[in-house]
Amino acid sequence: MASRAVDPPDQEDLVRHPIVLRRLRVSRVADVGPRMRRITLAGEELGAFRRDGLDLPAFRTAAHDDHVKVFLAVPGATPVLPIQRGDHLDWPSDPRPLDREYTVRRFDPVAGELDLDILVHGAAPGAAWAAAARPGDVLHLGGPRASHLPPRTASEVHLIADLTGCPAIERWLEAPPIEAPVHVTLLAAPDEPWAAHGAASMTRLRDPMEATDLDRLPRPAADAYVWVAAEGSQVALIRAHLEAVGVPRSRVRASAYWWREGASVEE
Ligand SMILES: Cc1cc2nc3c(=O)[nH]c(=O)nc-3n(C[C@H](O)[C@H](O)[C@H](O)COP(=O)(O)OP(=O)(O)OC[C@H]3O[C@@H](n4cnc5c(N)ncnc54)[C@H](O)[C@@H]3O)c2cc1C
Repeated sequence: MASRAVDPPDQEDLVRHPIVLRRLRVSRVADVGPRMRRITLAGEELGAFRRDGLDLPAFRTAAHDDHVKVFLAVPGATPVLPIQRGDHLDWPSDPRPLDREYTVRRFDPVAGELDLDILVHGAAPGAAWAAAARPGDVLHLGGPRASHLPPRTASEVHLIADLTGCPAIERWLEAPPIEAPVHVTLLAAPDEPWAAHGAASMTRLRDPMEATDLDRLPRPAADAYVWVAAEGSQVALIRAHLEAVGVPRSRVRASAYWWREGASVEE
């Protein structure tokens, strides 16, 4: 048998899904934080449905950080949509769709509801759409295209994120995919009231981090599982820290969820 540095059960598993474009409607909007809006979506296309002669499967989500692409419109226009081709989507090139990614905060197949928690940070397309969303509004979305399942065992779990990662952290804490104490590190303004209910510990750092915050980043065990989602330059700092304290790359899933204006896109 070929030897591996890490046995498969200790690594993430990737489960791919057919990618389906769905037309949904906003059924509720609620403010769940000073700047976080929960958009509840519903519609027949959350179930299996038929469009243009294609039988398309019901919505599926399997991991805490599964995400969808939502398709938005430039002001005064209708959204440019990708085209369903079998189990994937083709992207028109001119004009291109205006898409943004959001975590599947909750999916309830019985109630036929899907929640996205969207940070209202300014006048940008995604934030502005969420700020103005009303029951009855139409939203097209595609995905999730895959679910990254965490390793099956870990001595401890570290979830490190800014507010854009909180929907995924909440999902983990509500339904932990593995049994291990969960330590949360939040990068946010000092007065941010978000709390990690059910976590073994929570550390608050400034966003962006300063030198003293870097010293307070966790030092996970080598057999921990570490999940990171934040602004790209912060993710790069966290990755470098994790490497310096000896966490193997196979135990880390780190993603840039957005980029601060002027930040380097190199991680
Ligand atoms: C896999 C994945 C999952 C994500 N899940 C979520 C989620 O559940 N909820 C959520 O709110 N976001 C989530 N995000 C982040 C979200 O996609 C980005 O913040 C996105 O840029 C928002 O689009 P926008 O149109 O509002 O801003 P953009 O048009 O992309 O950006 C406009 C300006 O706003 C700045 N900006 C963008 N995002 C932020 C921010 N969060 N805070 C401050 N300034 C910002 C940019 O630097 C830029 O200057 C996720 C991203 C990824 C990749």
